[in-house]
Amino acid sequence: MIDAENNGQTRIDVDEALPSVEIPRRILNDLYAHAIQSLPEECCGLIVGTDEDRFERLVRCRNEMTMRHRQDPVEYPRDGTEAFYMNSLDYMIVFEEAEARGAQVTAVYHSHVGVGAYFSGMDLTYAESANFPFPNADHIVVAIFDRKVDSVGFFRKGGEGQAFLGHTVISSET
Ligand SMILES: [Zn+2]
Repeated sequence: MIDAENNGQTRIDVDEALPSVEIPRRILNDLYAHAIQSLPEECCGLIVGTDEDRFERLVRCRNEMTMRHRQDPVEYPRDGTEAFYMNSLDYMIVFEEAEARGAQVTAVYHSHVGVGAYFSGMDLTYAESANFPFPNADHIVVAIFDRKVDSVGFFRKGGEGQAFLGHTVISSET
């Protein structure tokens, strides 16, 4: 299980009582395609946008967790089927291109394979670690079961310095 090692943090589930977040269908389709194509591993990547249009474009990043796990299984006890680690060159290119045109990385996405679309203790630890490149981004998690999309969750901090909250996602046409 991906959340077996919680490092003292608890996982965050989607709360149906919270308002849903609307994400354009084309972005969700890109995300689902990436998740399916990355099997049996988790995929990861970034959503670029602006304050007015938060979900303009999806950019895939390489998940290098399997490589890290092979090089140092003590530091990285899981491989890419159970965890993700975004390739830093990939995300730096996206970050710099976004900055250059006044946009920003608004969300980080990754998939779960065979477990639900929650924000795991490990995801939280990564998102809140000093070397995580986008501390202000929201997070999208898509769950894949039997090679199909099962569910998707959206995780956003409840406010400055607050904990993440899990929202359901609905697709919009625009
Ligand atoms: Zn995760």
